[in-house]
Amino acid sequence: MSTIKRIWAREILDSRGIPTIENYCQTDDGKISVSSVPAGTSTGTHEAVELRDMDEKRYLGQGVLKAVENINNVLGPAVVGMDPMKQAEIDQKLISTDGTENKSKYGANAILAISEVVCKMGSQVSQKPLYSWIDDLGVTVGLKQGVRLPTPLLNMINGGKHGAGNLDFQEFWVIPAIHKTFKEGLQIGAEVYQTIGKNLAQRGAIHSVGHEGGYAPNLFTNAEAFEVFVESIKQTGHALGRDLFLGLDVAADSFYKDGEYHIRDRTSSMSDDQLLEFYKQLNNQYKLQIIEDAFFEDAWGSWQKLTAEMSSTTIIAGDDLLATNPKRLKKAISEKACNAAIIKPNQIGSITETLQVIKIARDAGWKIIVSHRSGETNDSFIADFAVGVAAEYAKFGAPARGERVAKYNRLSTIELEVEYLKNK
Ligand code: PEP
Ligand code: MG
Repeated sequence: MSTIKRIWAREILDSRGIPTIENYCQTDDGKISVSSVPAGTSTGTHEAVELRDMDEKRYLGQGVLKAVENINNVLGPAVVGMDPMKQAEIDQKLISTDGTENKSKYGANAILAISEVVCKMGSQVSQKPLYSWIDDLGVTVGLKQGVRLPTPLLNMINGGKHGAGNLDFQEFWVIPAIHKTFKEGLQIGAEVYQTIGKNLAQRGAIHSVGHEGGYAPNLFTNAEAFEVFVESIKQTGHALGRDLFLGLDVAADSFYKDGEYHIRDRTSSMSDDQLLEFYKQLNNQYKLQIIEDAFFEDAWGSWQKLTAEMSSTTIIAGDDLLATNPKRLKKAISEKACNAAIIKPNQIGSITETLQVIKIARDAGWKIIVSHRSGETNDSFIADFAVGVAAEYAKFGAPARGERVAKYNRLSTIELEVEYLKNK
């Protein structure tokens, strides 16, 4: 049996130039695993606490040296001597060492960093691919055994807090049809992405990219972004509604103020009901396959109405609403507030708790969408995680930029591996 000999961490930069944690695990028999954690920009208020130094003299207060110290001096030593294959026991030890409801004492970023690096070590020790080890861990919380290549939600255009201040909706996606292989879907997404870039350039619109690699154009309205989208898809020869579909992460919190929504498609602010009508119009025109965070994170009644009125055509996904939190998820299930869960391990702060949240969503018959964060590194852990929990969908940003394609390319590798094993 291998046991954990040492855990140590350091501060590195994420894709936004903001510090994050890189973490190492070494076993007594010399194995080493490395992992780094992501961070959000449009974070929900119900997420576990990401510990930042708040020392304005370093990285504008965003350093993570305290979280690194917490790993090196407290959390790491707490799990030394433990078996890295006992993920649940290790996560429980980290949670009880912190002792707070929202992981605010030592930081959810510090706790997840250890949880992830231990998970990678479990894969090494078990001599299984990471996705397969995560599949096994899922079984321990009651998930069905079995892996699946997710359909990618490929981010083409960035607005809201991820963009350049021009569009309100945060993410405009291409969703390849379910019957496409992962490889075919990725190709479709990449072709549309490049065509959108050319079209934006031709219109004289800015075509630099936002946090997740999607274009951040200076278009006048969110509806105009859809027009560019549809025009570009036509030019690629792929058929909307047959080869691919459209979807949105509205991230409505970012344009919600004092009970109203402010978007540039309308000259005056909108009520929840008016915004719902706007979504219905978009849906009639563009057949949205998925809509995420369509309303403010605590507007439960509006979420219910949206689900009642649109879920026959569209998957209603909760991100800031649910915050990968079991209590909020249970409330959403009982109130029928949505029917798909965005899953981000760093919103809750450990692998075991994330798996438990997925189990609750699965029992309710919900779809699972495993997601990256806007601040990423080249770590592709989340790709293996999506496959291991058999998520229907995964969103890892645009099919561009190193930290985004690291995940998509990892999915391509897993697709090959799974095919090979099937045919062996
Ligand atoms: C999201 O809102 O789904 C997202 C990935 O953005 P962030 O990481 O900034 O929360
Ligand atoms: Mg979101």
